[in-house]
Amino acid sequence: MENLRIPGPTPCPPEVLQAMTKQMIDHRGSEFVKILNRVTDKLKQVFMTKNDVFVLTGSGTGGMEAAVVNTLSPGDKVLAVSIGSFGDRFASIAKTFGADIIPMNVEWGKAADPDAIRRALQTDGKIKAVLVTHNETSTGVTNDLATISRVVKEFEKLLLVDTISGMSSIKCPVDEWHLDVAISGSQKGWMVPPGLVFVSVSPEAWKAHAIAKMPRAYWDFTQAKRYLERGQTPWTPAVSVVFAMDVALDLMFKEGLANIFARHARVGKAARAGVKSLGLSLFADEKYASDTVTAVTASERLDVRGLRRILREEHKVVLAGGQGKIEEKIFRIGHLGWVTEGDIATVISALKVALPQAGFVRAK
Ligand SMILES: *Cc1c(COP(=O)(O)O)cnc(C)c1O
Repeated sequence: MENLRIPGPTPCPPEVLQAMTKQMIDHRGSEFVKILNRVTDKLKQVFMTKNDVFVLTGSGTGGMEAAVVNTLSPGDKVLAVSIGSFGDRFASIAKTFGADIIPMNVEWGKAADPDAIRRALQTDGKIKAVLVTHNETSTGVTNDLATISRVVKEFEKLLLVDTISGMSSIKCPVDEWHLDVAISGSQKGWMVPPGLVFVSVSPEAWKAHAIAKMPRAYWDFTQAKRYLERGQTPWTPAVSVVFAMDVALDLMFKEGLANIFARHARVGKAARAGVKSLGLSLFADEKYASDTVTAVTASERLDVRGLRRILREEHKVVLAGGQGKIEEKIFRIGHLGWVTEGDIATVISALKVALPQAGFVRAK
């Protein structure tokens, strides 16, 4: 079996995979109603929210589109805080649907500066919403969302948050931080295959929804809410992935959320220490380094593609490359969901052997 260490899809425990072999049931029948209600209630516990939470069928990006089209109108001014390729994607989706984007592009590897966000909101009183990535998977950086949300709420703006690779693994309390829409996807830290995206919707987001004019059909929150009142989804859901979520959430509560967050903190720390022990450097500002994904800077001589091939073929360790403009400049170790410190030790041992083969010469 491969040691799959990319930031999603992530490995799934056997119980979760087993749940997916269950025969299909009627998605409008009473058994599914019970399962969907149960999964939704459990999700609310992880999101730490009393807000509505919807289980939508689609990938994380679909959830980002849902957040945008359900709360905004064409022409709305939106501050799009981007610290990497997923932040860029969020901005691009909003732009596609006609939002007037005010970009705040932070140097990749760095976290967003809450004071800069405050200045931007002070400068332009017409900004309606702020888009922000909680955990930027492309650079391995976790934003200080607690402080950012405090700033955004000083100005009473709508806060739409991509926590696709954060929620479930890093604490992200939706109510305490007043996140209006928070998004996460099943294939990241939830230990479940791809196919579902979860979104929470605050009362403020519902107010915005009531007047939001961007076109929407599949992702319409009004439909999602109407159907969830009967324990259903508007369209056919990924039934097997819902079965998997039900089991995975039970595993999560058995471990305990606080223990899960602590395990990710330990694993993240082990990954960073391991990488540095090999003479490599972290791409992310270490103060904001993510506990779910570690981005490693490739030195001049290191051939990232070659390194990943050697790791995959000779060590059965699968790591991710970089994305966008830093594709060949970094590689990434995913450590979210079903992961232990032992898994990271295996990755570091494999790297130790593979690095010199890929041209890496340790600096003196
Ligand atoms: C994975 C990821 C996405 C995109 O999710 P898809 O399921 O690939 O559409 C968006 N944002 C972040 C931060 C991610 O990690």
